[in-house]
Amino acid sequence: MNTLTDDQLDRYARHIVLKEIGGAGQAQLLAAHVTVVGAGGIGCPLIQYLAGAGVGSIRVIDDDVVDLSNLQRQTLFGESDVGIPKAEAAMHAVARLNPDVKLIPIIQRLDADNAASLLRHSDVVIDGCDNFTTRLIVSDAATRLRIPLVSAAVGQFEGQLSVYRGWEPEQPCYRCLVGEDPARAEASCAEQGVLGALTGVLGSLAALEAIRALVPFGEDSAGKLLIADLLSLRFRTLNIPTDPACPACSESALAEEECPA
Ligand SMILES: [Zn+2]
Repeated sequence: MNTLTDDQLDRYARHIVLKEIGGAGQAQLLAAHVTVVGAGGIGCPLIQYLAGAGVGSIRVIDDDVVDLSNLQRQTLFGESDVGIPKAEAAMHAVARLNPDVKLIPIIQRLDADNAASLLRHSDVVIDGCDNFTTRLIVSDAATRLRIPLVSAAVGQFEGQLSVYRGWEPEQPCYRCLVGEDPARAEASCAEQGVLGALTGVLGSLAALEAIRALVPFGEDSAGKLLIADLLSLRFRTLNIPTDPACPACSESALAEEECPA
């Protein structure tokens, strides 16, 4: 167990005073390795709060560069970052925020071939990517690797957040929620628009759930889906049913795929 320095006792005082976290929980956060898929509207506040919380190692996978149209919601970046890879700009921002935190930029597109190697050895994976195909790949890999997954998505005025540990009996995975549908169209933010502050809400909630997954507090959130409707300031939470025939998380699917840790 890490011993906290005087500076760390000061920096994390508001966490340490929480009985649910305390010094031991803060040391766990400092020792944690998380992976963030996507440094966009959700990724930016997410990375900010993870870095503020002292989550020791944050791997950020994103192959995109900062564009002027991102600055309406991607709060880690400034105008001088335009044209720079997002993962790299995020690394510079986190270096300013907290020297305890190491951000490892991975300027690659996550796909079915590299998913397992990019996500392996994470304590939690947080998906804030912008497309359905990548979400399914991330979920299937996290389930096989038995890594908790926090998944957040936004569009226009609506956001969704869910937490998965699909390898556990009775627990659904993302694929249980959305099914197979390869033709499922997910309109991009560029096409349909998104209110900037909404991405802040969902990104912050994703950070909170990642911290809960690292240092459990309160009620377990796995298997639940939060739907935030910000046209009407309405939040709902549903239980996600487990699909017993799910090709990713059913007992038979997990038995087929032995994945070395
Ligand atoms: Zn499933």
